[in-house]
Amino acid sequence: LNESNQTTWLPDLIYADGRFQPEVALVCDDAGRIVGLASAGEVENPTRLANRAILPGLINAHSHAFQRVLRGRTEHRTANQQDTFWTWREMMYSAAARLTPEDIYDASRMAFLEMILGGITAVGEFHYLHHSPEGAPYDDANLLAKEVVRAARDVGLRIALLRVAYARAGFQAEPNPRQARFIEHDPETYLRNVEKLIGDLDGSQAVSAWVGLAPHSVRAVPLDYLRQVVAYANERELPVHMHVAEQMAEVSACIQEYGRSPVALLETEGLLSDRFTAIHAIHVTPKAIATLGRAGATVCACPTTERNLGDGVIPADAYFKEGVSMALGTDSHALIDLLEDARELEYHLRLQRMERAVLASGVLPEGGAAVLATRLFDCATINGAKAIGASGGTLEPGRPADFFTVDLNDASIAGASGDDLLASVVFSLSRAAVLDVVVGGRQIVSEGRHREQEKIVERFSKLQAKLWGTQKENSGGMPPS
Ligand SMILES: [Zn+2]
Repeated sequence: LNESNQTTWLPDLIYADGRFQPEVALVCDDAGRIVGLASAGEVENPTRLANRAILPGLINAHSHAFQRVLRGRTEHRTANQQDTFWTWREMMYSAAARLTPEDIYDASRMAFLEMILGGITAVGEFHYLHHSPEGAPYDDANLLAKEVVRAARDVGLRIALLRVAYARAGFQAEPNPRQARFIEHDPETYLRNVEKLIGDLDGSQAVSAWVGLAPHSVRAVPLDYLRQVVAYANERELPVHMHVAEQMAEVSACIQEYGRSPVALLETEGLLSDRFTAIHAIHVTPKAIATLGRAGATVCACPTTERNLGDGVIPADAYFKEGVSMALGTDSHALIDLLEDARELEYHLRLQRMERAVLASGVLPEGGAAVLATRLFDCATINGAKAIGASGGTLEPGRPADFFTVDLNDASIAGASGDDLLASVVFSLSRAAVLDVVVGGRQIVSEGRHREQEKIVERFSKLQAKLWGTQKENSGGMPPS
C-alpha cells in the first residue's frame, strides 16, 4: 500500500464508518483523495500523529464572512427601544456600506482563518455584497464575490459561493438606501452575473470553489424573480439556499402578500427540491416541517447566531422526526465554532423542554449517547456537504482528504476513549484542541497554527482600527457615519 505517490497518516484513532477505529492509517493519493484505511502494521513511513484522532473536516453551510467585523460591536442597547434582529440589521448594514473590496478580502480571510483553525474545511458563503457603496455595479459585477473566493483559497478553505439575488426591501416597503450594494433589480441581470461567475472561477485550482444560487428570502425576492432563479439552478443542478422564516415579521409579510407562509409558498410553487436549503426555518408549523421533509430539502440551523440575535429556537426534534437533513452554519460569526452550533441544536431544546437528550428520542438507552453525538456530528459534516454541494463530509475512499485532528490529551477531552470520544468532541471540545487541518491532502494548519496567521490577523486588526477607530468618541458604539 505504500506507493511513492501516496501519503499516509497514522493517528491513534480515525473516525470512519461511524466509529473511532484504532490501529489504522489514512491513505491519500497525490491528487489529495482518500484511497482508504490501511492496517497500521502494513504501512511504511507514515506521518505519525501521536495522541491524536482524525475526524472528517467540518462543513459550515451558512456564512456571511464580512460580518466578522461586527463582532463585539453590537452587544449593547442602541436607544430606549427594544433591541432586536431588526436594530442589529441596521448596524450591520452601516458596516457593510463602508467596506472596500480589499476590506472584504481582509475581513473574509479573518473569518475563514478562524473557521479552518476550528476544523472547518469547506464553507457555503451566502454572498450579497455586489456593488459599490453607492449602488453602482463594479466594472466586474462579481468583483466582491471574487474577493471572497480569493480569501477562501488563500486560507485553504473550499468554498461554495452562494451568490445572492436581492431585488427589494420587502412587500410594499420603500427602498432602503442601505441595501444599495445588494440589489439586482431583474432576474436577467442577476443570472447573467451568475453565469459569468461560473465561467470565471477556475475549477482546476487545488482549493475548489463553485457557485450556488441564493435568492435572499421571500421578502427580498418577488415570486416571478424567484421562479426564474430556481429554474436556472434546477437546470444546472446547483444548490439553492434561501433565508426562510428567521423572524415572525417575515412570515406575516409573506402571508399578507401571498396568503401563504414562506414554506407553503415554496411548496405550492414547486420550488423545493433535495438541492434546496432553508436557512433558519425557525418559525414554522408542523405542516411546513413535514413539507420540507417530503421535498428532501435541507434545513440549515445557525444556533450561535440565532441565540445572539434573539431569533428563537429551531424545532430540531420535529425536523429529525420528519427525516429532514439538518446542516449547520456560523452565519453572523458572533462566534465561529461549528461544534458549538451542533451542541446548541440540542441544548436550546433541553432548556425549552426541560428534558435531556431530546434529539436522541426514540432511540434505546444503550445506544443513546452514541446516537445523539453521531446525529449532531453528521449535521456538522455530511449534511452540510449535501447542502452546499461539497464532496467531503466523510473519510470514504474517493472523497477528498479533508480532515482535522484533535489532541487526545487536551484538557477538554482528556480521558475519553473510543466509546465516548465523539460525545466528548461534540459536547466539550475546545477549539484549541484542533492541531492539524488538511484540505485535499495538503496540510493547512500544523500544531494549531496557520502559516499566514500573523499576517491575516495584522491586516484584520488594521481594518478594524480603520472601521471603528473613532469608537471612543462615539458613545453609542455605532460606527462613525
Ligand atoms: Zn444568513
